[in-house]
Amino acid sequence: MSYSYENSLLIVGGGIAGSALGRALQRRDLPFRIIERRRTPSDGGLAINLPGNAIQALSALGLREPIEKFGHPLRRREYRTASDKLLFEIDEDAFWGPALRPRSIRRSVLLSMLTHDLPEASLLYDADVQSMTLHSTHAELGLTDGTNLAAHLVVGADGVRSTIRTEAFGTQWGPGHALLAERSWRFMAPNPGVDCWTVWVGDEGMVLLMPVDDREVYGWAANTRPFSQGDSPEALDRLTCKFPERVRNTVLDVVARPNALYHSPLEEVRLNRWYNGRAVLIGDAAHATAPVWAEGVALALEDAIVLARSLSTIPAELPALADFEAQRRSRVAHVQALTDAMSKAAKLPPLVRKALFPFIGPKRYRQTYEPLKAAV
Ligand SMILES: Cc1cc2nc3c(=O)[nH]c(=O)nc-3n(C[C@H](O)[C@H](O)[C@H](O)COP(=O)(O)OP(=O)(O)OC[C@H]3O[C@@H](n4cnc5c(N)ncnc54)[C@H](O)[C@@H]3O)c2cc1C
Repeated sequence: MSYSYENSLLIVGGGIAGSALGRALQRRDLPFRIIERRRTPSDGGLAINLPGNAIQALSALGLREPIEKFGHPLRRREYRTASDKLLFEIDEDAFWGPALRPRSIRRSVLLSMLTHDLPEASLLYDADVQSMTLHSTHAELGLTDGTNLAAHLVVGADGVRSTIRTEAFGTQWGPGHALLAERSWRFMAPNPGVDCWTVWVGDEGMVLLMPVDDREVYGWAANTRPFSQGDSPEALDRLTCKFPERVRNTVLDVVARPNALYHSPLEEVRLNRWYNGRAVLIGDAAHATAPVWAEGVALALEDAIVLARSLSTIPAELPALADFEAQRRSRVAHVQALTDAMSKAAKLPPLVRKALFPFIGPKRYRQTYEPLKAAV
């Protein structure tokens, strides 16, 4: 048995939420240690969309220069039918302004931006947490290799299938299937000439293509109706068989390289509380949300900023956790409500959807993002 209080705060999970929290704590001179089950810092080659409030949060974490250097600007959004008819477009540049211009970036690049100047000793890789015991003065973590660690606070930044959530709240708290779709595929592919964030919505599913530069796109596809054909590359092929040529060619390119195709269930977490005693959840562990508005990373970064601020300004730990949760509740609830609204719209019968989308689409975009322009 080896217990140590040397780091009074242990962060379980070195993904985006955990790494951002480490960075935010370091900027406030608070000690921490990140425990991550992966062997290496990087997280695959897939990419993500960062809306303006994610750019704002990265700036608050001291990363304005790197995000402007490495993030690919996304100036426009297009929503199209499966026959390539433009339903509506959004001028994102005009909406967010140049300082908060949305960007796409590879996940691995974002992770190295967040971690590159964290002290080596603060990152423990290849360490898998399997249990947590809560006491009134501290929390104990048990790792799969038999090591035990103790700290005054444990932060569960361990994603949608969080061990810390299960240990703190029990198994009944999810995750559950997202309203939008049950499964989705993600991939990188040669850019077929897509110059902005573009989504095509068909009768059974949708495909998003987003440039990460002039040569490569990030792709995401999901079935929005009950779909009995499984999760194989052939199922993706069938789901997109009526989509326009540039989408078809991109999908066929990936289907021919099945190792380049990542399949994941779409799961959500909705909790009434994010902390229990000396354990608190952030990022997907607390509120994983279907990527309808691409808010997962932004919310994780904002959680990190707010939690570090609460911990550094409120002397007692438990009131600091209550303050964190109180500050974050309404913003997260807003994103969840607008995610549900757009998920329902995506499932409308095709004719109704085509008629309504040009009106409700831009309205929902403004409704979602306008309140998120305010810094946390
Ligand atoms: C299909 C899809 C597309 C998405 N697209 C976007 C997008 O375009 N934009 C956007 O903002 N968001 C997007 N998201 C959401 C985004 O990926 C997540 O919100 C974000 O990654 C959350 O980060 P996290 O650090 O909370 O969790 P994760 O990224 O899941 O990180 C959790 C970390 O904890 C580690 N871990 C887990 N369990 C343990 C354990 N027991 N012990 C030690 N370590 C552990 C894991 O290895 C991992 O590194 C998408 C999600 C999906 C599913």
